[in-house]
Amino acid sequence: MRLLGAVCALLAATLTLALTAPASADTAQTAGRAAKPKIIVSLGFDDGDASHAMVGSLLKRYGMRGTFYINSGDLGKSGFLTRRQVRTLAKQGHEIGGHTLHHVRLTEVAPLTARKEICQDRKALLGMGFKVRTFAYPYGAENAKVHKMAAYCGYNAARTVGGLTQPGCLECGGYAETLPPRELYRVRTPGSVRADNTLEEIQEEVIAAEEKGHGLLPLVFHRVCEEDCGEYSVTPQLLEEFVAWLKEREADGTVVRTLADVIGGKVRPVPGR
Ligand SMILES: [Zn+2]
Repeated sequence: MRLLGAVCALLAATLTLALTAPASADTAQTAGRAAKPKIIVSLGFDDGDASHAMVGSLLKRYGMRGTFYINSGDLGKSGFLTRRQVRTLAKQGHEIGGHTLHHVRLTEVAPLTARKEICQDRKALLGMGFKVRTFAYPYGAENAKVHKMAAYCGYNAARTVGGLTQPGCLECGGYAETLPPRELYRVRTPGSVRADNTLEEIQEEVIAAEEKGHGLLPLVFHRVCEEDCGEYSVTPQLLEEFVAWLKEREADGTVVRTLADVIGGKVRPVPGR
């Protein structure tokens, strides 16, 4: 009986512990969250799509600044931003980054062409008055040679696509890039947001990074439009819902910054003529 009594007492104690555990865990989690370093989300919009003029205004309404990666050789063409629109984006406080002159796959063109695509694009954007400090590899196609070219052309950092989670697949990679990034010329991101991604899938990436506790989460967007916009697109409604949700997380230490602001450094000149 005594043994049974002891077992019962132990069981009761275990039960009490089990019942009170969730409350303690919650408290610990809340306290932990307040003490955690910030998650920095950077919102990247690639290719200078005409829809990005509207994105600039949307972000501004929410007090956020994004990074717009421009192919300067395509500016003013049908479906692309005009120079004037890119100037407006810059005036709204957004970062203007380089994305090559003509959106070439840098790993597949001749080295001289690759370097020209990166350097001349940056030179053109600098010539328009933009403080061009970060670069994005078209198609996320990069290798060690191309990293060196981005550095040579005066960029302080360059962003690939991939290396972290994928929307809808949190097991596909790390949750966040390190701060500072472990490779400045290969800043990793989750896979680009696609038309079939849900709001929850994009939110999950931020939540996963928050739970890890620190780091940089550069998100990659392409076209922003209603329907039949291709695989790499998102609707304006979904983007706004996401941005509104992200804004609310500021109080918990999840903030939005441009990649250039995260990386820092001066605006360097492009070498050569
Ligand atoms: Zn692109």
